[in-house]
Amino acid sequence: MSCLEIESIPAMYREMGISEKVYAYGEAVWRSLKDRWEAVDALSEYNQLKVIQAMQKNRVSEACLLGTTGYGYNDLGRETLERVYADVFHTEDALVRPQITCGTHALALALMSNLRPGDELLSPVGKPYDTLEEVIGIRPSKGSLKEYGIDYRQVDLLEDGSFDYEGIRRAVNSKTRLVTIQRSKGYQTRPTLSVKQIGELIAFIKNLKPDVICMVDNCYGEFTETVEPSHAGADLVVGSLIKNPGGGLAPIGGYLAGKKECIENAAYRLTSPGLGREVGASLNALGAFYQGLFLAPSVTANALKSAIFAANLYEKLGFAVVPNGRESRHDIIQAVTFGDPEGVIAFCQGIQQAAPVDGYVTPEPWDMPGYDSPVIMAAGAFVSGSSIELSADGPIKPPYAVYFQGGLTWQHGKLGILKTLQNLVEKEIIMKDFDKRNL
Ligand SMILES: *Cc1c(COP(=O)(O)O)cnc(C)c1O
Repeated sequence: MSCLEIESIPAMYREMGISEKVYAYGEAVWRSLKDRWEAVDALSEYNQLKVIQAMQKNRVSEACLLGTTGYGYNDLGRETLERVYADVFHTEDALVRPQITCGTHALALALMSNLRPGDELLSPVGKPYDTLEEVIGIRPSKGSLKEYGIDYRQVDLLEDGSFDYEGIRRAVNSKTRLVTIQRSKGYQTRPTLSVKQIGELIAFIKNLKPDVICMVDNCYGEFTETVEPSHAGADLVVGSLIKNPGGGLAPIGGYLAGKKECIENAAYRLTSPGLGREVGASLNALGAFYQGLFLAPSVTANALKSAIFAANLYEKLGFAVVPNGRESRHDIIQAVTFGDPEGVIAFCQGIQQAAPVDGYVTPEPWDMPGYDSPVIMAAGAFVSGSSIELSADGPIKPPYAVYFQGGLTWQHGKLGILKTLQNLVEKEIIMKDFDKRNL
């Protein structure tokens, strides 16, 4: 690359509304993270090889990229893709379908198909993701597990974020059939669990009760490590294709990977007893599913870089960030606490201003159904609601934190974060002399 091109980068940022000072500050933070970028690149290199190896082993061919219609019998592309997922996740089997509408649906499917009336479900890692409260029946809801006579027990994490092994020992009983473990913190303040920690928890539970099914909600965690929870003893891992494993290309879908019997149960629940996995036309989704999975290690790495950049930039400016600037990462979510609603709003508007789609729109807080305070959301996505694409949201309530995730390219993530800083400086939420601090 010529010097001229490199020199024109700051000018380009200025044309896009980033001041010289904000750019220089961001650049200094970016350059200080060279070691982190190398580690993330090595991670994505390994995972890229893993995906290519699985595709080659299963003889993915041009014909696999074409879909079926109608009943979808003998769908070569669908069946091959499911074997590719099983290899990537190191499991006996997998179910990867456009008929699984989202992450919540994939998790509900896993639970409803593997639990029977009289069984008990246990979460040993505290409260599950919001939308699962209605699936389980923690909040009363039509069709919940509770309505079908499936009970729920929960053991919270200890104050320091570790597992309450004594509490778990007391909670596991003769009715316990399935244990659900959420890898990502989601929109809570607890730490995200590493695959190693999940492995330790599963070993403890299997020791208490060997036949219990250990399921992991893998949302936002895929490809953030070289191994998945299914390498560490999980019987079932579940996630959404409009997050990490869809690589930004999958337009819909969810996956389950795990033990043959668990997947078979899920297939009969997804379609119908007697039909199972043999039906379910893939329509036009397969090309994007394959190419998205191929891109997923690299896309997830870009999202990780964006999150690490945000953590370090805002930590140096004195804001609380989770995870902190140096911690190892086990998901792609970054929380930044502003302690003031204006900070949350300025941040989300900055992310929106960097969007390739709907970049001209100004998001505002609104009373979204299902939330107990106004929420502001920034997203300018090619796939509606996709949160592997650069996105942010924050409830307008103390401690006034934003949750930021995604970025199909780190270049886009970097622009988004610089835009947030520009906004916070212009609104004087961040002091004018910010560039003198801690650098
Ligand atoms: C996103 C997410 C879900 C639910 O996924 P949807 O696709 O939004 O239904 C469940 N659990 C966790 C941890 C998530 O991040």
